[in-house]
This record gives sequence, structure tokens and C-alpha cells, in this order.
Amino acid sequence: MSQNRSTIFVTGGAGFIGSAVIRHFLDTTDVAIVNIDKLTYASSLDSIPQAAAQSARYALATTDICDAAALQALFARYRPQAVIHLAAESHVDRSIDGPQAFITTNINGTFTLLQEALRHWRALTPAERRSFRLLHVSTDEVFGSLGPEGAFTEQSPYAPNSPYSASKAASDHLVRAWCETYELPCLISNCSNNYGPYQFPEKLIPHMIIKALAEEPLPVYGDGQNIRDWLYVEDHARALHTILAHGRIGETYNVGGRNERTNLNVVETLCGLLDRQQPSDHGARSRLISFVTDRPGHDRRYAIDATKLERELGWRATENFDSGLDKTVRWYLANRPWWQSIQNSGYEAKRLGLAAPD
Ligand code: NAD
Repeated sequence: MSQNRSTIFVTGGAGFIGSAVIRHFLDTTDVAIVNIDKLTYASSLDSIPQAAAQSARYALATTDICDAAALQALFARYRPQAVIHLAAESHVDRSIDGPQAFITTNINGTFTLLQEALRHWRALTPAERRSFRLLHVSTDEVFGSLGPEGAFTEQSPYAPNSPYSASKAASDHLVRAWCETYELPCLISNCSNNYGPYQFPEKLIPHMIIKALAEEPLPVYGDGQNIRDWLYVEDHARALHTILAHGRIGETYNVGGRNERTNLNVVETLCGLLDRQQPSDHGARSRLISFVTDRPGHDRRYAIDATKLERELGWRATENFDSGLDKTVRWYLANRPWWQSIQNSGYEAKRLGLAAPD
């Protein structure tokens, strides 16, 4: 790794959004990236193309963000100008089954990262201190559930309903406090549901694509009328770059794609796209949709008002949901080895306490 260029730490860079952020920065800038990732079940190093992974501008540090000594050594070695913090336990259903890992990584891990970032920041020259930034990536789920009207703004009160969103809310508060109390230059972004290439197979869209290809039932929670606001992951990576480069210290920015859809509509649209791109011998795949018992505490509706980011920093989501979903389905059809190797790792069986496949 070259020591002469600007270096950015990306935590959680082997995950879905983190890998998109790394691909984006390597493609569009000349900064060097250190990917700090514990490589949990949710990670995939195959999400970073080989050419990028072998670049002199990229290094992987297989490190737990709860490990203060390891983080301290990384800060001392690479002297980053910025940190984009994405490492987290991110799957709501898992947080209901086993919240401990969410508390450990999302709260204690963020605390540890803040402490080590602060130690690093205080040792910088005044000029370096002025340009340093820590961008904490969070979720709209911290704001709870909306009624049929309106959208979350940066002023919406926090009202998290799941162990996942509660742990993310706690991490947001820690970041805010480290900025206010210690003057560590931090920014926070809260985004809506992401979708796109390289998303882990347990999340809604890839889960449904993979099940539909296997002609298995497509489980939709409750009545399928819960609404999510979808953001294409590459639009999100661009938004994070914009916020890091131009956002005001201490501010929060909402990131959303203005693409509200019911879960049922998403699954029906996926079935239609798959039927067109790879017709089934057994007829329309929408016949596979089956309604299952709702998730406890399932938020009814999320919608993000991204006006502040659009007006202040000039960012705009460019991907329309129908074209983004079409691209995503094509990607999963063309990249079976990526998701099949994850499936073969037995991650699902391990979660359910079943024997992993050989
Ligand atoms: P992901 O689960 O795909 O990836 C998380 C990554 O973090 C994995 O590579 C994992 O190995 C790593 N990680 C987990 N615990 C770690 C630890 N203790 N130390 C170091 N690395 C660790 O998650 P994602 O979907 O890419 O989400 C990234 C961030 O964006 C998260 O903070 C999440 O809360 C937030 N977010 C995600 C969405 C979404 O739709 N995916 C929406 C809003 C906010």
C-alpha cells in the first residue's frame, strides 16, 4: 500500500454497502483504502473485484472493530484522513433471535472506533485535524414506523422498534456525542433500504430471487403491505462520497431514492422480471408467493426525505426502481457462483442450529 496518498478507512468493506463504497472510491478517486472487516458470515471478499483487491491502493485488515489495540495499530500505521464506518450486524431478523452480537458490534464496536479515531485525531497536526472526517453510516429504521403520509427528515425523533434499530440508534447518539463533546469531526447519514449487486442472500430481494429460481415458496411477512423506500447501492456509495467531501461537520444527512414500494409489490415485480429473463417451465413465479406470520415489531412504513442532501450538497439518486431492480435481477442471474458459494457455506443452517451441509 502506497504511503504517499490520502488514505480512507472503510469499516465493514467486505459487506454489501461497504464493498460498493470501496469499488466506488477505487474507480473514481486516487485515494488508498484500508478495509477493516472482521469477515463475519455476512461478508464476502469476492465482492471486491480481484483487480481492485490486488491494487496498491487497497489493503484488507481482518480486524474486529471491538479490538482497541488492533485499531490503534491500524491508525498509527496508515494515518487515515477519513473513516467511513459501515461495520455492523445488519439483519433485523437475526437481531430478534440473538441481540447480543448487535449490542457488541454496533454499540461497543462504534464506541471503540470513536475512541481510537479520537486518539488518532488528537495526534494530528492542526491542518490535518481540520481536514479529518468520520462518517457514520446508519439507517432510517432509527426513526421507527410512519403512518400512511409523510417522510422521515433529519429532525424526526428517534423511536427504534427492533434490537437492530435500537443498537444503530445508540451508535448514532455516540457519534453525535463524540462530535459535540470531544470535537471529533463526525457526520452521520441515515439511509433507506439498499438493493443492488452483491447483497447477501438472506436479505429480501436476493432471498426472493434465489428462492424463485429454485421454484421454492416466496415467504412474504404478514399481508405484504409494509412499505420500504428503496435506494440503489451505487447511488448510496455516491451519496457517502458527497457527504464525506462536502457535508458539514456535526450534521446528519438522510439518503433515500424516493422509491416507496410495498413488500408484496417488490416480490411480484421480481417474479415478473425473472419470468421474462429466465422463463420457468412451471408457469408464472407469482404462484410461489406465500404469506407467513408477521415479524414481531414489524415497522409498517419507512420513507426518506432526502431534500437536505439534494439541496445542500447537490446529490440526487439517479436509479429508478424498475431499472435498478431489472439490473439487479440480471446481476444475480449472471453471477451465480458468487451467491452459490455463500449458500454452500451453510450460513443459514448454522443460524438455525442445523447441521451445515458438507
Ligand atoms: P452487511 O451485513 O452486508 O455488512 C456488514 C459488514 O460488517 C460485513 O462485511 C461484516 O463482516 C462486517 N462486520 C460485522 N461486525 C464487525 C465487527 N465487529 N468488526 C469489523 N467488521 C464487522 O451490511 P450492509 O447492508 O452493507 O450495511 C452496512 C451499513 O449500512 C450498516 O451499518 C447498516 O446498519 C447500514 N445500513 C444498511 C442498509 C441496507 O439496506 N443494507 C440500510 C440502512 C443502513
